[in-house]
Amino acid sequence: MHASRSGYTTNNMNILENVPLSGYSTMRLGGNAAYLSEINQKIEVTEAVAWAKERNLPIIMIGVGSNIVWKDEGFPGLILVNKIMGFEVFSEDEENIYITAGAGENWDSVVERAVATGKSGLEYLSLIPGTVGGAPVQNIGAYGHELAETFVSLEAYDMQTGGLVNIPAIECEFGYRTSRFKTTDRGRFLITSLTLHLIKQIQEPVYYHWLEDYLKTHQITHPSPTDIRRAVIEIRRSRLPDPTLVANVGSFFANPIVSSDKYQELVEQHPRLASWPSRCFWDLPDGSYKVAAGALLEYIGFKDFHDETTGMATWQNQALVLVNEHANSTADLLAFKKIIVDKVKQIFDMTLEQEPELLPIASL
Ligand SMILES: Cc1cc2nc3c(=O)[nH]c(=O)nc-3n(C[C@H](O)[C@H](O)[C@H](O)COP(=O)(O)OP(=O)(O)OC[C@H]3O[C@@H](n4cnc5c(N)ncnc54)[C@H](O)[C@@H]3O)c2cc1C
Repeated sequence: MHASRSGYTTNNMNILENVPLSGYSTMRLGGNAAYLSEINQKIEVTEAVAWAKERNLPIIMIGVGSNIVWKDEGFPGLILVNKIMGFEVFSEDEENIYITAGAGENWDSVVERAVATGKSGLEYLSLIPGTVGGAPVQNIGAYGHELAETFVSLEAYDMQTGGLVNIPAIECEFGYRTSRFKTTDRGRFLITSLTLHLIKQIQEPVYYHWLEDYLKTHQITHPSPTDIRRAVIEIRRSRLPDPTLVANVGSFFANPIVSSDKYQELVEQHPRLASWPSRCFWDLPDGSYKVAAGALLEYIGFKDFHDETTGMATWQNQALVLVNEHANSTADLLAFKKIIVDKVKQIFDMTLEQEPELLPIASL
């Protein structure tokens, strides 16, 4: 290993120094990382961890930063950008198919390949930005489905034991947009691959009106996984900004889960409020409702809302997406967020929770 002007070189890796993190979040804000390196093979994880340990530096592994907002103060440790590739179908019969994908693979290209097998399970999660490794961290979901439904296990480097481990679904503590990787064991596991199980099945009824409308318009009564993928891609393209063109991290707030009483109160005030009962989701408490946070924001005038002071806006077709038009800092973004959260609290007496992670958190 030797030091150079721009960083360090070890056996397999190049470690860059003082790197702007705005290039590693699709919101394009944030300070600098002291060190940053791409990880292309599993062996490099061990090497990177040893390098950081020698210098007593914290580590964060990331994908493409489509769910990260970096703090303005940056990160005084080593960022590992996961680029571990691989896609393998390792067991297939008439009814089932198991696939393993490298954590650095683009999520949607894995969905595309999975759907092409004709088996079901990932089609509703089409076109979600990010990597395979980022997906279990918040148990990605869309249109009433989530990763946990197909997830078998993942392989990760365990920072506590210093070796590779295999973690089955039952130990991942998946919930609505969460898992142990985002809560109790945040930062402990550096994910290297995922194994997923797809099955041959008749599609369940769709619960989302945009999807229902698409299928009706296209006269599709028995949609195949390919039909659902096509519908999801078309709907997402019409409603969400492409993060490679418009700086954003997708839905900025999670859809709130409310009690039946609170739900009744909300629909009395706003009869057309989009919401879903707990029976549509395996992980919601009985009798509760999931309320569309985007609809709440729309009701109070936050759709296509532009704030010149902070340089932030909400997206024209989906109020839940905050867009960085010309913000100078994450402080600007957080000031804009506060305007929205305060107004929702005042009008609906509800507290919106931020979905993308604000990193680094204090304990890292
Ligand atoms: C336009 C848009 C639409 C979106 N739509 C959806 C949606 O419909 N549903 C949804 O759930 N999400 C959505 N998202 C959020 C985002 O796409 C997902 O959360 C995605 O899984 C993040 O992947 P990533 O590789 O970018 O992870 P990053 O943003 O890089 O990282 C997110 C978190 O995961 C950790 N992490 C990432 N990779 C690894 C790894 N290999 N090992 C250990 N930890 C890791 C990071 O440390 C961080 O804590 C959307 C985002 C955008 C920009």
